[in-house]
Amino acid sequence: MRTVIIGGGITGLSAAYELVKAGREVTLIDAGAKLGGVIQTDTVEGCVLEGGPDSFLAAKPAANELIKEIGLGGELIGSNDGSRVTYLVKNGRLVPLPDGLMMMVPTKILPVAVSPLLSWPTKIRMGLEYFHRPPAVPKPDRTVADFIREHYGQETVDYLAEPLLSGVYGGSVEKLSVGSVLTRFVELENRYGSLTRGVLESRKRAPKGGTPAPLFQTLKGGLAQLTDELVRRIEGKCTVVAGTAEAVVRGEAGYQIRVNGETVAADAVIMACPAWQAGALLRGVNGRLAGLLEAIEYSSSVTMALGYRRADCGPIPPGFGFLVPSRERKTLVACTFVGAKFPNRVPDTHVVLRCFLGGAGHEAILDEPDEEMIRIVRTEIQALLGWNVEPAFTRIRRWRKSMAQYTVGHAARVEAMREILRELPGLQLAGNAYDGIGIPDCVRTGRAAARSIAAL
Ligand SMILES: Cc1cc2nc3c(=O)[nH]c(=O)nc-3n(C[C@H](O)[C@H](O)[C@H](O)COP(=O)(O)OP(=O)(O)OC[C@H]3O[C@@H](n4cnc5c(N)ncnc54)[C@H](O)[C@@H]3O)c2cc1C
Repeated sequence: MRTVIIGGGITGLSAAYELVKAGREVTLIDAGAKLGGVIQTDTVEGCVLEGGPDSFLAAKPAANELIKEIGLGGELIGSNDGSRVTYLVKNGRLVPLPDGLMMMVPTKILPVAVSPLLSWPTKIRMGLEYFHRPPAVPKPDRTVADFIREHYGQETVDYLAEPLLSGVYGGSVEKLSVGSVLTRFVELENRYGSLTRGVLESRKRAPKGGTPAPLFQTLKGGLAQLTDELVRRIEGKCTVVAGTAEAVVRGEAGYQIRVNGETVAADAVIMACPAWQAGALLRGVNGRLAGLLEAIEYSSSVTMALGYRRADCGPIPPGFGFLVPSRERKTLVACTFVGAKFPNRVPDTHVVLRCFLGGAGHEAILDEPDEEMIRIVRTEIQALLGWNVEPAFTRIRRWRKSMAQYTVGHAARVEAMREILRELPGLQLAGNAYDGIGIPDCVRTGRAAARSIAAL
C-alpha cells in the first residue's frame, strides 16, 4: 500500500516519519528548495537565525514528544522566562505589558492599575468584568474583536488583543474566530461569564508546586535540527520527489497524483500543503471539499534578522522584545530580542533583532526590494530604540500565503470537510489550516493522518 504525502514541511515530514516507522511505502512530494517548509534556520557569525518559526508552545506536547523520540531531547532549550518582559508601543514609546495578564485577561489589580498602557475607563471596565454573568445559552461564533470588546472594551482590543494575535496569526482580530483562536476563553465565558473570574478559578484548581515549565521551547541549533533529523530518519526508506504536485484524481482503486509530468499511483494521500493548494489539487476529487479548502484565507509575512556588533549598539531594553499595535504601526509588527529570549542563540559579541512585517492588510511590504525593506525597518528601530547603527548582517525571508486565518465559522467549515472526507477513504488533510496553527499542531495532525492510514 503506497501513500503519497504532498508537502514536506514539518507536517509532511512528521507524517512520513510515522509511516516509515510503520513499515509503509511512502512518496513525499515537495515543491520547496529545501525540505522543512517554513522551518528554515541559518547560522551567521555564530548567531542562530530562524527564518520562520523560532520556537513552539511547550504546553502542547506533540512537538516535544517527537523531538525526544528521535533522540534530540538533549538539544531542547526553554525560553528565559525569568526575564520575560514584552513591550507594546504606545504613543511611539515602549511600555511593558503589565504583570499578571493572561493574554488580554487581567488577573492582578495593581500592575494593571499603575500601567500607562490603558486608560482609567478601560481599567475600571476591566475590574467590572469580574461581575459578568454566563450567557443563558452559548453565543454563536463571533470575531475576536467583538468578544474582547464585550468583555473589556475597544482599548483592550487595540492595545492587547490586536498586537498579541497579530504576532501569532498575522491576521485581523476583526475577522479571526474567537471559537477557533481563543477556544479556552469561550469555555470560560460559558461557564463563568467573566474571563477574569474564569482564569482565577482555573488557577486555583491547577496542580501546585514544582518548577514551572518554560512557556516556549526550541532546539539549541534551531528548529531545522528537528526537520533535518526527520529527513535523515526517512532517507532511503521513502521516495522524495522534488516538484510541485499539479493535480490529484481519484482512480478505480485509490488516487493518482500528477507531478513533474508523470503520474504517481497511491492508495492513500496526505495533503500536507497549505489549504489553498490542497483545494486547487483536489478540485477533480470533490468540488465541495475543494471550495471549502480554498475558502480558508491565508496571510503573508516577512521575517527580517538584523545582526549588530554589540559594541555598536545602544542599550537594549531588558525583555523578549516588543509588539506594535496596528494603531501605532507603520511597518514593523513585532520585534524579538533574540539573545534575550533563548540562551546560546547569540554570542556576547552580537545583538540580533528578529523583526516581523506584513500580515493581513499590510502585505504590500512583501513586494518591496530588500534594501528598501531594511531602510524602513532601520528607521523604525531608530525611532523606538534610539539606535542608528549599520547592521553587520541582515537576512530576509518572505512567506507568501503561509499563515492560515481561522475566520468566523472556521470550526464549522472544518467539520464540513471532515464529513466529506468520510466518503473519501485514504484521503487525509493535515497541517496548520484546520485545528491549530503552531508546530505542535502540525506534528500532531501529521502523525495522526499517518496513523489512520497505517490502520487501514
Ligand atoms: C514567519 C512564521 C513564523 C511562525 N512562528 C511560529 C512559532 O514561533 N511557533 C509556532 O509554533 N509556529 C509558528 N509558525 C507557524 C508554523 O511554523 C507553521 O504552521 C508550520 O511550520 C507549518 O508547517 P506545514 O508543514 O504544515 O506547512 P509549511 O511549512 O508551509 O510546508 C508546506 C510545504 O508544502 C509544499 N507545497 C506546497 N504546495 C505544494 C505542491 N503543490 N506540491 C508539492 N509541495 C507543495 C511547500 O513547498 C512546503 O514545503 C510560524 C509561521 C510563519 C510563516
